[in-house]
Amino acid sequence: MKTKLLNPLNDAYAIKKASDIIRSGGVVAMPTETVYGLAANALDTDAVKKIFAAKGRPPDNPLIVHIAEFDDIYNLVENVPEKAKKLADAFWPGPLTVVLKKKPAIPDIVSGGLDTVAVRMPSHPTARELIKKSGLPLAAPSANISGKPSPTIWQHVSEDMDGRIEAVIEGDISELGVESTVITLDTEPPRLLRPGMISAEQMEAIIGGIAIDEGVFEEVPAEKKAASPGMKHRHYSPKADLTVVRGDYEKFKKVLEQHAADGVFALVFAGEENGLPVKAMTYGKKDDSASQAKDLFFALRELDKRGAKKIYARCPAEDEKGAGLAVQNRLFRAAGFNFI
Ligand code: AMP
Ligand code: MG
Repeated sequence: MKTKLLNPLNDAYAIKKASDIIRSGGVVAMPTETVYGLAANALDTDAVKKIFAAKGRPPDNPLIVHIAEFDDIYNLVENVPEKAKKLADAFWPGPLTVVLKKKPAIPDIVSGGLDTVAVRMPSHPTARELIKKSGLPLAAPSANISGKPSPTIWQHVSEDMDGRIEAVIEGDISELGVESTVITLDTEPPRLLRPGMISAEQMEAIIGGIAIDEGVFEEVPAEKKAASPGMKHRHYSPKADLTVVRGDYEKFKKVLEQHAADGVFALVFAGEENGLPVKAMTYGKKDDSASQAKDLFFALRELDKRGAKKIYARCPAEDEKGAGLAVQNRLFRAAGFNFI
């Protein structure tokens, strides 16, 4: 298959062409404010199968369904509780996904066989226009081969998806850089399943107490049933072997002095890249979780391209709440919970 590149800046019909592909059962990569997504008609099992095939995604890992207007949620879920309305009021459109009991119209392949479905209304204008023009809810996981870091620029999407999907919509670098916060409202209290830029604290201010799923902090053993199946799978990993170095910069430098060799790279905060015994790549500023989130996946992919065999990464502050938890969660998982 030849993958088309569609650019809304130089082709007034780019989004129309993308929606035609989706309406005929194809898959299109689209920019969103979190990361790039692989979109297909969420109500069409065969179309959604193509997403799983393109990504090599395990079939038990459910997809998020994207809508353009709040009222579209009533086509997807049985019942919209007050807490869901309040969260949507506060954070939609934006990087928040809510899990609710699904309607039978949602194919099993979308929900990974669960009786719930994850729903999000993105804020990115291209994503919203594509959903509206398609006139359909769009199932859309991150646009990477399963296991690799999520793409935050269209070129990273093309590297993974060329020849596997019908088209890639070119947009800017993803504004946020990590996937949406996922919360299930199918339990009482509601439970945070995946941290993102909208924090548990921000949501608690709107709906009261929230539990944090243990899979947010630690590895879910393969034999255990995860509340959010995605947490079980290896994720976000560069080809290189990644280790997170806990402690301050002085300690980090010592570790690298011990391990300096060909193919060893450092992943550090801006301003720390000079004076190290190995080549370095930066991800954000030291005390700024939002900047770390924006750069992390980009940096991991670029390190692969630069031929990194072994990466030592600076550790974000571990008492972090809010966006800091999102960065920690992605970095620790990318490292397979491998620490010094
Ligand atoms: P991705 O599509 O790569 O952003 O991953 C979607 C995430 O949402 C995965 O971690 C899933 O486990 C989670 N998810 C999607 N649907 C559900 C659901 N019905 N219940 C729990 N978690 C879900
Ligand atoms: Mg993903």
